[in-house]
Amino acid sequence: MGATGGGGLLLYTLGTGFLKACGWVEEPDTDGVRQEDQEEKEAAQPWEPAYAKLEREGKLAGRIQEAYKIMEECRLCPRRCGVNRLEGEKGFCQGVQKAVVNVYGPHFGEELPLVGQGGSGTIFFSNCNLRCVFCQNWPIAHLGLGEEVDDEELARMMLKLQKIGCHNINLVTPTHVMPHIISAVRIALKEGLTLPLCYNTSGYERAEAMKLLDGIVDIYLPDLKFMDGMQAQRYNLAAAADYPRLTREAIREMYRQVGNLITDAGGIALRGLMIRHLVMPNRIAGTEEFVRWVAESLSQDTYVNIMAQYRVEFKAFEYEEIARAITSEEFVEAMEWALEAGLSNLDQRSLAQLAIHRRQLSS
Ligand code: SF4
Repeated sequence: MGATGGGGLLLYTLGTGFLKACGWVEEPDTDGVRQEDQEEKEAAQPWEPAYAKLEREGKLAGRIQEAYKIMEECRLCPRRCGVNRLEGEKGFCQGVQKAVVNVYGPHFGEELPLVGQGGSGTIFFSNCNLRCVFCQNWPIAHLGLGEEVDDEELARMMLKLQKIGCHNINLVTPTHVMPHIISAVRIALKEGLTLPLCYNTSGYERAEAMKLLDGIVDIYLPDLKFMDGMQAQRYNLAAAADYPRLTREAIREMYRQVGNLITDAGGIALRGLMIRHLVMPNRIAGTEEFVRWVAESLSQDTYVNIMAQYRVEFKAFEYEEIARAITSEEFVEAMEWALEAGLSNLDQRSLAQLAIHRRQLSS
């Protein structure tokens, strides 16, 4: 599941509708224009989400058709189940014909550029195409708790999140419902949606399917959980040994589409890639390799959140190596690797956590 962020979520329950507490690069681009110059040019224009431009160009409706077509023999994700979800067949993710939503609402525990004053407008989709044994959202991702919604209702949720002041539409675990999302976005756009879309994914994506999102998604928020296929195989309910390879490929595609994070004058995210990496006990996540890969394959200016909040959830207690919290030594080591790799846009909360853990080690 994509959502490994912290707490601070105010949620709308479905049906009742009430609120409850619960770098640019130095090289010239293909046109010979530096990304810095392009960003300055974009900054001078009034903000509009990517999908609005695509609709103006007359291309959004075609993308929706293409995406739904994939569901006829579902290969939205690397599992490639081949089931006809439009006829009610279920694949590995257990996704049905319609999207299933558990909760939606403003979330204040996400990365600060997403949260601002109004919160990140999260929509939690039920079920998941990855299914880690340590899933921190397992009642939603594994049990699939939630209610089916049609695309019109999904659009209404987006508009409500905009109305109450959220800064983005944060689509949590979107991979298996990508067609519904882009269909709902088009409906909401006609009713005045202007927020950036944030695609909050486990990273287990098919880069080919991701290409349909080019010009629709403004902010990509993928996890990169493992760098070693053996670990990805061991800690998923259905082996996903190809996770490190395919997720890196998908993240490269995301980076190609949106580049480094761009924010408005108030520091609110408008467009770009933000990567999450959860530090796990006993170096299971391969953090040293992860930070080097980001620095060398993407950019040292990539926004990276090295997260300290691993906790023993779901079936993790059955696996000795991950049946404990991480230590201060493990988190400090991870952050020092990131700094040594030259990552210059590390999440503010992860830097604060580094200071706390360093103090603990020195006391
Ligand atoms: S989205 Fe679901 S049904 Fe489709 S390929 Fe992936 S796991 Fe299978």
